[in-house]
Amino acid sequence: MPAKRASTAADDPPVTDAPPIVATQRVHVLLPLPLGGTYVYRAEQEVTAGAFVLVPLGRRQVVGVVWDGPCGDSGDAAIAESRLRDVAAVLDAPAMPVAMRRFVEWVAAYTVQAPGAVLRMAMSVPAALTPALPVRAYGRSRKAANVRLTPARQRVLDLLADGPPRTASDIAREAGVSAGVVKGLATAGILHEVALPARRSLPPPDPDSAGPDLSADQAAAAAALVAACQTDAGYSVTLLDGVTGSGKTEVYFEAVAEALRRGRQVLVLLPEIALTAQWFARFEARFGGAAVAWHSDLGQAGRRHAWRAVAMGEARVVAGARSALFLPLAELGLIVVDEEHDAAFKQGDGVAYHARDMAVVRGHIEGIPVILASATPSLESLTNVQRGRYGHLVLPDRHGGAAVPAVEVIDLRRTPPPRGRWIAPPMEAALTATLAQGEQVLLFLNRRGYAPLTLCRGCGHRLACPHCSAWLVEHRLAGILQCHHCGHTADRPTVCPACGAEDNFAACGPGVERLAEEAARLAPTARIAVMASDTLSGPAAAESLIAQVAAHEVDLLIGTQLVAKGHHFPLLTLVGVVDADLGLAGGDLRAAERSWQLLHQVAGRAGRAERPGRVFLQTYMPEHPVMAALAAGDRDRFLAAEAAIRREQGWPPFSRLAALIISGRDLQQVTAVAATLARRAPDGLTVMGPAPAPLALLRGRHRHRLLVRASRSTDLSAVLARWTGAVRLPAAVRLQIDMDPYSFV
Ligand code: ADP
Ligand code: ZN
Repeated sequence: MPAKRASTAADDPPVTDAPPIVATQRVHVLLPLPLGGTYVYRAEQEVTAGAFVLVPLGRRQVVGVVWDGPCGDSGDAAIAESRLRDVAAVLDAPAMPVAMRRFVEWVAAYTVQAPGAVLRMAMSVPAALTPALPVRAYGRSRKAANVRLTPARQRVLDLLADGPPRTASDIAREAGVSAGVVKGLATAGILHEVALPARRSLPPPDPDSAGPDLSADQAAAAAALVAACQTDAGYSVTLLDGVTGSGKTEVYFEAVAEALRRGRQVLVLLPEIALTAQWFARFEARFGGAAVAWHSDLGQAGRRHAWRAVAMGEARVVAGARSALFLPLAELGLIVVDEEHDAAFKQGDGVAYHARDMAVVRGHIEGIPVILASATPSLESLTNVQRGRYGHLVLPDRHGGAAVPAVEVIDLRRTPPPRGRWIAPPMEAALTATLAQGEQVLLFLNRRGYAPLTLCRGCGHRLACPHCSAWLVEHRLAGILQCHHCGHTADRPTVCPACGAEDNFAACGPGVERLAEEAARLAPTARIAVMASDTLSGPAAAESLIAQVAAHEVDLLIGTQLVAKGHHFPLLTLVGVVDADLGLAGGDLRAAERSWQLLHQVAGRAGRAERPGRVFLQTYMPEHPVMAALAAGDRDRFLAAEAAIRREQGWPPFSRLAALIISGRDLQQVTAVAATLARRAPDGLTVMGPAPAPLALLRGRHRHRLLVRASRSTDLSAVLARWTGAVRLPAAVRLQIDMDPYSFV
C-alpha cells in the first residue's frame, strides 16, 4: 500500500450525513495516487459510480472516486469480505461524470501512467469537493434599544441601520472600530448572525448578444462550425486555419454562442493563460458575461471557486491552460484549442500528455465537436486533414484588408553587425526610420537574461551549473547568474574558479537585456520595454505592459516568445528578428517546423492595422528552407517539403514515437538500467539509444534516453506498458515515459 502521498487532499474534510443504509456493497475506488489502480472497499450505503468518497488508506483517510469496476493494477480485487474496510463518507460534491471517468482511463492507458496519476489531475483541488463554508455576516437585532452604547458601538449600529448584513471585518473597516467591538455586540445579542452565500454567482454569457458583421469567408466558416455544434452532430474535429488577424476568434465565438444556446458548456484551451487578458476582455465584450479562467496563478481560493463553479454547471465557459482539460464539465458541448500548434500544450513531466491531442480524445468520448485554431497549424493536424479525419476551414485574408507584412532576410555573413553588437546596419536603419515616423518597433530575441554564457578571458573557463549540464545565464538586472534548467542561482564571481584571474570575465552572446542596452544606444530617446517571463512579476504585470504598448507608451518593445502570440498593436509596423537561427539548433525533429511557426507568428505582429508592416530576419542561413519560406510567404510549399522529409525518414506524424528517460543520482545504476531496458526491447520497434541525454545531468540526476519508434498501426502504449512493466527498477532510479515527445533534451 502506498505509504506517502504528496497530494494536499484535506485529511478531514467536512462531510454530509450518511444516507440511510440500503445494503452492503463492494465498491471499487480509484485514489488520486500515482501507484496502482482501484482499491476495494465496503459501503454500507448506496454509492454510485462517480461519487467522491472518503476512504481509509493505511492510517490516513483519502478522497477517491467510486469507479465502475476494477481499473488499472488493482491487486486486491479478490480480497476477503472480512478484511474489507468501510467507505467512511460520501462527499457532497457533484459526481465525476461517466465521460470523465472514461477519459481518465484513456489518458492513463495512452500515456502509460497509473490511472490514479491521471485522476489526480482531474481532482486537482481537493478543497473543492466540499461545499464552501457559509460566510458569517452580522445584522442589527431588535434587542439594541435598552442597552447603553459606547460611541464605537453606536457607529456600528448606525452603519447597519440601513445597510445589508456584512462580515465582521467589513463592519470593523467601514465603521472604523476594532473587531472586538463587533464581537462584543454579537455576544451581547445586539447583532445577530446570518449566513451569506459564499460568493455571488457569475453573470452568464449571453449567446444571443450580437457579434460583429462577418465577412463572406468568416460567415461561411462560422456557419460550418455552428452546424457542427447542432444537437445531433456528434463528434467532429475541424481545423480553423487562418492567417493572423483573419478573425479566427470572432469565427469560433459563433460556435461558442451556438453551444451555449443549446445549453452546453464550452471549454477553450489557450497556450499561455497568463498573457491572454485580451482574450477575456474580448469574450466579455462579445457575450456580456465572463468566461471562467483556469490557470496556475489563480491561487487556492480562485482554483477552488472555479473548479466548483465548473462542476456545479454554474460556469458555462471555461478558458484555461492545458490542465483545464481535466475539469469536470458535465454538460460539455464544445472544445476549442486556440493556437493548436503551440508546444505549451505538451506536458513533459509526470503524465506526459499533449492537451491538443487529448482534447480530441475527450471530444470523441463526449461525442462533441472540437475546433483547432491556428495561423500556423501543426504538421500533425494538417496531416489529419489530409487523411480525411479532420475538417478544414480556411480564412485566407486579414480582416479589414491589412496586408500580410513583407519579410526581408538580412544575410549576416554579408552585412554583419559591428563587433560586440547584434543589430545589423539594415535593421538599424529601418528601426531608426520607423521610430522617426512615430511608429512602434518589436525586436524579437528568444533568450532571457543578459548573456547566455560567461567565460574567463584568461583561461577560457565557462561558468556552468553545478547540478546540470548547462551554462549559467547572466541576468544583469537581477545581478545574478542563473541556470535555466533547475533555477540554481549564483553571484557573479570576481575571481575565475579555474585560473584565479581577477575581474576578467566576458559575457558571450546576447539575451534580451543586452539587446535593450544596444537599442538604447541606437535610439536614446525611445521608450524601451523588455518583455520576458522573468522581467514580469506575474499576469497583472504582463497585462499592464501590454496595455502600455497598445496605448503607445512604449516605442520599442524587446521580447522573447511571450510577445509572439496573439497581441494586437495597431502602431507596431516593424518586427526585427535578431537571431532567426536560434531555434534550428539541437536535435529536435520539429525544429524547422517550430522555428517557422514561431517566426511566422512574430512576423504577424507587424502591420496589424492600416499601416503596412515590415519584418527583418537576421540569419547566417538565408538559404535555409525556413528563411526561404518566410521570405516568399510560401507556407504550403514549406510544409509539404517538411512533411516529405518526415515521411521519408519515418518520423511523426508518419510513425509513433516515445521517449524513455532513465534518471538517478548514481551514473552506473542509470547506465545499467538503460542497458537492461534496451536489451529487453520487444521486436518490431526501432530503439535508438540508450545514450546520455543532451541534458545529461539535471538537478543532480544523471539522465539517459531511449527513443522508441513504431509504425502507426502499432499500439505503442500497450507495447511500452508490457515491456517496461517487466523490468524491475531499483528504488533510486526513475523511468519517465514520454509518449509523443516534443522535447529531446
Ligand atoms: P485571429 O484570431 O485570426 O488572429 P482575430 O479574431 O483576433 O483574428 O481578429 C483580428 C482583429 O480583427 C480583432 O481586433 C478582431 O476584433 C477584428 N475583427 C475580425 N473580424 C472582424 C469583423 N468581422 N468585424 C469587425 N472586426 C473584426
Ligand atoms: Zn541547473
